[in-house]
Amino acid sequence: NTFAYMLQGYDKEWYYTDNQRTVSYSNLPAGTYRFLVKAANSDGKWNEKPTELEITVLPVWYKTWWAVLMFIAAFIAVTIFIFRYFWMRKSMQAELQMERVDKERQKEVNEMKLRFFINISHELRTPLTLILAPVQEMMDKVSDRWLHKQLEHVQKNTNRLLHLVNQLMDYRRAELGVFNLKVRRNPIHKVIEKDFLFYDRLAQRKRIAYNLSSEVEGKEILCDPNYLELIVNNLLSNAFKYTDEGKSITVVLRETGKELLLQVRDTGNGIPIDKQAKIFERFYQADNEHMGSGIGLSLVQRLVDLHHGRIELESREGEGSAFSIYLPTEETAYRPEEIATRTNAIGEQQVYTTNNQDMYIVDTEDEKEVIKEETAESNGTRKEKILIVEDNLDIRRYLSDELGKSYHISEAGNGEEALALMKEQEADLILTDVMMPVMDGLQLCKQIKQNLRTCHIPIIILSAKADLKEQLEGLQVGADDYIPKPFSMAVITTKIRNLFRTRYRAIEHYSNSLEVEPEKVALNVMDEELLKKAVAIVEKHMDDVEFSTDDFAREICMSRSNLHLKLKALTGDTTNDFIRKIRFNRACKLLKEERYTVAEISAMVGFNTPAYFSTSFKKYFGCLPSEYIKTNKQ
Ligand code: ADP
Repeated sequence: NTFAYMLQGYDKEWYYTDNQRTVSYSNLPAGTYRFLVKAANSDGKWNEKPTELEITVLPVWYKTWWAVLMFIAAFIAVTIFIFRYFWMRKSMQAELQMERVDKERQKEVNEMKLRFFINISHELRTPLTLILAPVQEMMDKVSDRWLHKQLEHVQKNTNRLLHLVNQLMDYRRAELGVFNLKVRRNPIHKVIEKDFLFYDRLAQRKRIAYNLSSEVEGKEILCDPNYLELIVNNLLSNAFKYTDEGKSITVVLRETGKELLLQVRDTGNGIPIDKQAKIFERFYQADNEHMGSGIGLSLVQRLVDLHHGRIELESREGEGSAFSIYLPTEETAYRPEEIATRTNAIGEQQVYTTNNQDMYIVDTEDEKEVIKEETAESNGTRKEKILIVEDNLDIRRYLSDELGKSYHISEAGNGEEALALMKEQEADLILTDVMMPVMDGLQLCKQIKQNLRTCHIPIIILSAKADLKEQLEGLQVGADDYIPKPFSMAVITTKIRNLFRTRYRAIEHYSNSLEVEPEKVALNVMDEELLKKAVAIVEKHMDDVEFSTDDFAREICMSRSNLHLKLKALTGDTTNDFIRKIRFNRACKLLKEERYTVAEISAMVGFNTPAYFSTSFKKYFGCLPSEYIKTNKQ
C-alpha cells in the first residue's frame, strides 16, 4: 500500500510515501491542525476520503493570551507608575515652592499687621498722655473723695494702657535691633538693688517675703545695665502679678564662672509644664485671669538673646517659678562694637525703655485688690450695714461701689454665704439677687424672714425676672421690696433710703410715745407677735423686783443676746430700757390716777425702794414723780 498525508494548516500539498510508516513534524507553531492520511491499494486506487486526526499544538506559557494580557497590563502599569512618579515629583516641588512663597507672604502679612498694630499703638501714646495730664491736674484740684476715687480709676487704667503700648514699642525696638548693646564694667548690684527696692512697698502691701540675695556687691561686672533693668523689671512685675499674699519672691544675683546669673524666683502660681515652652512667644498668655498682654517675657527673651545670654525656666504648677538669666561676662563673647569704650560711652546714656517703673507696678495690680481696698476704706464710719448678695462679680462690685458711699457694705456670692456671714455680723438691710448658685435669693429670703432673730431685716430682691409672678413670689416669701433688672441705681438708693426711713419712723414712734404699741413699731407679723409677747411678759412681772433680763429671755424663749439684738433692732432700746419703759409707763398711769402714794407705786412697778424709783424716774423723764403729778394737774 502507498500512503499520502498532509497536515492541514501547515502543509500545502499531499506527501506520498511508499515504505515510510512514520511522519514527524517539529517546531510547529501553536494552533489547531488536521492530519489527513489516505491510502491507495495495490492497484493504485486512492481512497478519496482520508482519515483525519485533529491535533492541537498548545502555545508556550508566555505566549498564552493571559500571559500576553498580563505583559501588556504590567507594561501599562509600569509606564503609568513612571509617569506618575515624575509627575508627582514635579507637583511636589511646585507645592513646596508655593508653600515657601505662602509662608513668606504670611510672614510679610504678619509683619505688616504687627507693624500696623505697633504704629497704631504708637499713635495711642499721645492721646493717652494727653488724658493722663489733665486727670492728674484734676486730681490735684478736686477735694471730693468720690470724684478723686473715680479719677484714680481713670488714671490707673490709662497708665495700664500706656504700659501696654510702651511694652509693645519696646518689643518692636528690640526686634528691629534699635537697642544698642553696650556692655561695660558695672557695679551691677547697685543697679539691680535700685529696681529691687522699687517693689518693696508692693511686697509689703501684698505681704510677700521679698529678698535680694546678691553675691556681686561691690564687684564691677561686664554687662549692659539698661538691658538688665528692663529684664528684671519685667520679671519682677510678672512675679508680683502671679504670686499671692503670704508667698515669697527672691532675686538672686551671682557670678558663676564666666557668666552673670540673674534669677527671679517666686513661690506663686507656677506655670503648667505644657505651657512652659510657649510663654516666651509674643502675645502668649498662660492664663486669662490676670491682665496682661503676653509681651513681657518675649521681650525678655529678645533682650537676653541680644545680650548673647540664655534664659532658663524652672516651674511647677502651684509651687512657683524661677526664671534664670545667664549673661556672658567676658569681652570675647561680644562683638567689638558692642563693648562700650570711652568714645562711644557718651551717647550711650540713652534711655532704652519707654516705660517707667510705676507702670510695671500698675500692671501687677489686680483689679480685685483695688476694689477690695476701696471698699475697705469706704467702710468704717457708716451707720447702716447693707449685705449685698449677688453672684455676678461685676454687678456686686458696682452695687458695693455705689452703695459703699453711704453705707457699710458686706458682700456674699450666694444665699448660703450670706447666711454664714450673718452669723458673724449683723446687717441692717439685705439686697439680694434671685438666681444664684447653691442657694437662691428666694430661699435666702425665706430663711431670713422665718428666723425670729433676723426677720426684722428688710430685704430687697433684685432680679432679671421682671414678670409679675416672680415679683409676687419674692414678696410672698417676705421680701420688703422688689427691683427688676436692669436696675437704676437711683431707684435702689431711694428704695433703701425709704426702707430705712420707715424703720427709723417706727423707732421714733416707739421712743416718742409712752406706750409700747407693737403694731406700730413692728413691720411684720412675727415681730409684732414678739413685741406683744415681750410687753405681756414685762407686764406680768411688773411688781417683781427680782425680774432680770435673764428671766425675760428665758420666758420669751430666746438667748439673752438675741433678745437684746432683736429689741435693739426693733425699738432702738436695750432690754433693760425696754423693761424700764413699760414700768415707767405703768407708773405714769398710776401717778395720774392719784390713788396711790409714790412709795406704793414704786413697789407696784418693781422698784426696791421709793428713793431708787424717784431717781430713776428723774433720769428718765427729767422730773421727780411728785413734780410729774403737779405738772400733769396743771
Ligand atoms: P503677661 O503680660 O501676660 O504677663 P508675659 O509675657 O509677661 O505676659 O507672660 C506670659 C505668661 O507667662 C503669663 O500670661 C503668665 O501666665 C506666665 N507667667 C509669666 N511669669 C510668671 C510667673 N512668675 N509665675 C507664673 N506664671 C507666669
